[in-house]
Amino acid sequence: MLIFCIYNTTINLIYHKDIHPLGRINHIPRVLATTYGLFITWQVLGASLLDTQYIWIIPTCFFWPHIALLATNISSNGRRQEEINMHFDAFLTSLVVLAAPIYSFAATIITVLIANALFVGSYRLMFTTMLVVVFTVLISSSILPELHLLDEQLNTTISSSIFLLIYLSAFALTVYTLTRKLIKLNSKVKTLSLTDPLTSCYNRLYLEDSLNKEIQRSYRFKVPLTVIFADLDHFKQINDQEGHNAGDIVLKQFVQLVNTSIRNNVDWIARYGGEEFIIILPNTSAENGAKLANRIREIVSQHSFVLADKPLHVSCSFGVTEIDFNKDELNAEQLTSNADQALYKAKEQGRNRVEIFSE
Ligand code: GH3
Ligand code: MG
Ligand code: MG
Repeated sequence: MLIFCIYNTTINLIYHKDIHPLGRINHIPRVLATTYGLFITWQVLGASLLDTQYIWIIPTCFFWPHIALLATNISSNGRRQEEINMHFDAFLTSLVVLAAPIYSFAATIITVLIANALFVGSYRLMFTTMLVVVFTVLISSSILPELHLLDEQLNTTISSSIFLLIYLSAFALTVYTLTRKLIKLNSKVKTLSLTDPLTSCYNRLYLEDSLNKEIQRSYRFKVPLTVIFADLDHFKQINDQEGHNAGDIVLKQFVQLVNTSIRNNVDWIARYGGEEFIIILPNTSAENGAKLANRIREIVSQHSFVLADKPLHVSCSFGVTEIDFNKDELNAEQLTSNADQALYKAKEQGRNRVEIFSE
């Protein structure tokens, strides 16, 4: 059974099966700590360990890390199980310290327990872990006769220093790896939260946040800002006749076409919703914005949208508006609404055209 445990956990660790992250993080430190405990006990008690009531320390220290990982692995609540394991760590540690009561050993192992409980758990876990240590020591010392600290020995002090060095290095390596992963994940989450999953352009959330910033910049530095509202023509028909997948392909290719027509890192496009997009052109007048919209309109209408079996032609209508410095300050909603009114006019006048907003 125990051999199976070791085999199982080793295979799981190597092949990255679904172990709870806490179980994985704790495994190597637990192996190091139990090996250290076993080593010190052997240094202090020598072969006489085999004749004392502490003989159980040998198999327990040897097998416990693997049993703990297996328990976390098969538990339906890995985090909870790992917290239970950490309390057992504290219980076992206290008993091993009682078997070899040397100051450097006790101080080292308790420091490691506190650091570990805080690192992978919480203040609560640290507190309950310490409670386990205190209760185990109190109860055991009332049962065990004549318990007092043994004299320091050079070899146990050296072992403690070497253990601390190895343990803290492993600890630092884990923190380093986790921090790097966290930074990467953070930036991925940020990108995902601001990106439209279908077309990979910005989404409505980004639009609402960033358009107001563009507007403020524009008013502050008195530079023009143009907003284009683009809406694919008769898109419902494309969906109805060619299928929803075809519609999705058209949306993706439309964004690619726009992206190749606008200025890199200055202009940007966001999906407003459905087949409607907003293109933002900083430092651009409505007149120049309309020229760009016309260029995009021509590119789109001449483009053969590549679907699974046949090409398809699609057109798009555009409403263009700009910030007018002689009037009251507009917000993102008002500016978008003006562009939408111009778009409505383009639709009304036959589609596949560009209209500039005028009151
Ligand atoms: P108009 O020329 O007046 O703009 O007509 P339209 O058919 O383009 O406009 P309408 O608002 O009637 O239809 C928009 C369609 O866009 C309806 C909806 O099914 C489709 N649509 C919205 N979001 C998506 C999407 O993510 N993928 C696909 N394939 N279709 C979508
Ligand atoms: Mg629409
Ligand atoms: Mg449409």
